[in-house]
Amino acid sequence: MPNQQLLRSNITPAPISSVTELITNRQAAGAPTLSFEFFPPKDEAGEASLWRTFDDVLEAKADFVSVTYGAGGSNSARTLSIVEHMAPQITTVGHLTAVGATRAGTGEIIRRFEAAGVKSLLAIRGDAPKDNPNALADGDLGTALELVELAHEVSALEVGVGAFPEVHPESPDMAHDSKVLALKQAAGASFAITQLFFSLDAYLALRNSADAAGATLPIVPGLMPINNAKQVIRMAAMSGASIPAELLGQLESADEAEARRIGMQFTIDLGVKLLDVGAPGLHIFTLNQSVAALELARGVGLCP
Ligand SMILES: Cc1cc2nc3c(=O)[nH]c(=O)nc-3n(C[C@H](O)[C@H](O)[C@H](O)COP(=O)(O)OP(=O)(O)OC[C@H]3O[C@@H](n4cnc5c(N)ncnc54)[C@H](O)[C@@H]3O)c2cc1C
Repeated sequence: MPNQQLLRSNITPAPISSVTELITNRQAAGAPTLSFEFFPPKDEAGEASLWRTFDDVLEAKADFVSVTYGAGGSNSARTLSIVEHMAPQITTVGHLTAVGATRAGTGEIIRRFEAAGVKSLLAIRGDAPKDNPNALADGDLGTALELVELAHEVSALEVGVGAFPEVHPESPDMAHDSKVLALKQAAGASFAITQLFFSLDAYLALRNSADAAGATLPIVPGLMPINNAKQVIRMAAMSGASIPAELLGQLESADEAEARRIGMQFTIDLGVKLLDVGAPGLHIFTLNQSVAALELARGVGLCP
């Protein structure tokens, strides 16, 4: 049994507080945090799956959850109504994007997140949609850093940011990303969650580079369970994450069931290694489905 299971076996559900407090408290007890990401679904079936998964996540004594936000604010009302329901039950992080947004409109959304009981914002730039490549120039906020600054100006919410173990696709190198991360920390960001990635070395390189740049905030790995190999291969390509060649070969040559077995085992092994090197917790991307997300959480020993 992995050590974390021993440490979390008697754990009681965490009180609703900031993510940083949760990380600090768990660390004091020698245990990592367990958290999950959701997205606003498009239809009724998706809605049912979201809430089933949320119930399962509560049962697994997760520490916090986060809910994504459509770049450009396309689904802001749905994100807000979901966080309103989650926030009284568990520490809830609302993602918020900068792309195409005005300062006044964003300030208003931040106040609505606050009124909904959200404890933290994940301040993210967002990407320009394919049909409007100039969207970044349309708004008042060009980068996530400006969003971190605005959030601190207009609210008392805790602010987290994204981090990129495989280097942000627009960055020249990891040192550049790390300088930006340090600027976000200086502007008040107190934790980071990573983009999906598939290599322990990539996480370690990010952590070393962030340290060297003075970005000392906790960096929680974001982990995508490889439940549906074809879907994950597509998502990895879209986000610029590389799947190790050997794993990719195995996933592509196996049938669906075998690819799932190989993929889930790989993700569990990666999660265990990340915890072994002292990652502050794991943030599991659920895609609003609980089976694979909880299989991963159990596999790494973070829930019974
Ligand atoms: C954990 C996580 C959650 C996410 N959730 C969402 C979501 O809910 N909705 C969504 O639409 N997208 C989401 N994304 C995707 C995100 O919008 C994209 O990855 C986007 O391309 C980058 O966002 P960012 O916050 O890192 O941007 P930024 O920090 O603005 O960085 C973008 C690029 O600009 C450079 N840069 C930024 N500031 C400076 C500066 N001051 N000087 C020089 N260069 C700079 C960076 O190095 C980088 O190359 C998420 C990503 C992560 C990691």
